[in-house]
Amino acid sequence: MSEFDAIVVGGGPAGSSAAMRLASAGHNVLLVEKADPPGSKNVSGGVLWGNDLEAVIPDWQKTAPVERYVKAKGVGFLTKESNIGLEFRSGLFDKNRAGHMVLRAKLDQWLVKKAKDMGAMVATGVTVDRVAFDKGKAIGVEQDGDIITSDCVILAEGANPRVAIDSGLREPLNDKDVAIGVKEVIKLSEKTVNERFNLRDKEGFAGEYVLGFLPDQVEAGGFLYTNKDTISAGVVISMKHLRENDRTYSFDIIEQFLEHPAIAPLVDGGSVEEYSAHMVQEGGIERVPKLYGNGYMIAGDAAGFSFSNGLVLQGMNYAIASGIAAADTFIEAKKGSGVSEESLAGYRKRLLDSYVLKDLYNFRGIDEVTWGRLPHRAMPNALEHIMKGLFIEQGVPKKHLYQLMTEALGESGIRTSEAVLEGYRMLRRM
Ligand SMILES: Cc1cc2nc3c(=O)[nH]c(=O)nc-3n(C[C@H](O)[C@H](O)[C@H](O)COP(=O)(O)OP(=O)(O)OC[C@H]3O[C@@H](n4cnc5c(N)ncnc54)[C@H](O)[C@@H]3O)c2cc1C
Repeated sequence: MSEFDAIVVGGGPAGSSAAMRLASAGHNVLLVEKADPPGSKNVSGGVLWGNDLEAVIPDWQKTAPVERYVKAKGVGFLTKESNIGLEFRSGLFDKNRAGHMVLRAKLDQWLVKKAKDMGAMVATGVTVDRVAFDKGKAIGVEQDGDIITSDCVILAEGANPRVAIDSGLREPLNDKDVAIGVKEVIKLSEKTVNERFNLRDKEGFAGEYVLGFLPDQVEAGGFLYTNKDTISAGVVISMKHLRENDRTYSFDIIEQFLEHPAIAPLVDGGSVEEYSAHMVQEGGIERVPKLYGNGYMIAGDAAGFSFSNGLVLQGMNYAIASGIAAADTFIEAKKGSGVSEESLAGYRKRLLDSYVLKDLYNFRGIDEVTWGRLPHRAMPNALEHIMKGLFIEQGVPKKHLYQLMTEALGESGIRTSEAVLEGYRMLRRM
């Protein structure tokens, strides 16, 4: 007889959602989180697209510690001197307030407390070492040589899945599997945030930027999200490029982003309240491990569930959806034939039926177009050339748009045929 029905490793959105679902169905669940308090080591940009939370916390929109809701979404291509941007500011966001800016230190504590209130046993400040196996079946987790037993283990340990790797449940990560995110939370006043981003009340702005001005061919994206009286600003850098280039450091890149002439006025006068760095899942469907086995399932970032196309970065929604799917699979298995590899196979089926695996399959290979020379170097500079030709009167004969575009590509060192082909691939894959 096991000590617990289920042990969930990791108190991020995936693990807490799994624990809530299991506890509210009456199961004896242990949620183990290495940080104390939960969330203190977690990083997101972060916009929580929280529709899936409704399944475990029906009133989450009213009660969750969210900062603002997404009222405007911006995308900007930054060159040394310019920001060529597009903004979607819409009343449509008011009708469906699903996207909310969150700070993980607050959100994760709240989620873990909810799991506890629903009946989960929570152990914080405890780092699980491995999954314990007996005759090929997961029988619990091992920590400092002790084994705590359970009928099932749900691994939800995030983007650096040491437990899964050390237990032989997934391959070690390589540079293409992850990017590195560096983030600052910058304190301003609520009034200043509203004025600088043209916002009212709980409205928020979420911006993503392509950093086309970085030296040494480093490819990185920037983000800027408004909280109530702070700004979350950061960069996500290709791990492969960072490793290949030993002159560039991640902390330099965030500084260069924050000092950019289009960004500096937005954060001017603010004081840094929080500085953090974290891995970002990037591997895509090819790197998703086997998601279940005899007595275990893997959810959230640990399973490689995240989506990034350069315009949005999402992972918390996939984490919540997969955590709940894992819990539901366990609940069904317990009601039926019991926990076995066959009964947990339903987990993959649930994910295939939902947007979690559908998105990953549909956007297979997206990293090859989002981390590329065209979006990161050629596009920002080409766009700047076109804008300059269109909008800065220079007292010389004007040029047609096509001519400006051809010149712009030429200056970027990209042949027109290459641009057309790459552009087509981008449109198809994005
Ligand atoms: C810079 C950055 C920006 C991002 N922006 C966004 C965004 O705007 N929107 C979005 O949806 N997503 C965003 N993401 C992605 C998002 O943060 C992740 O997809 C999400 O956190 C995954 O949730 P999770 O529960 O799977 O893992 P995590 O949130 O990482 O939680 C895993 C938990 O497991 C714990 N843990 C790890 N190992 C152990 C162990 N051995 N024993 C016990 N506990 C352990 C950790 O402490 C952690 O609390 C961003 C990520 C980064 C880094």
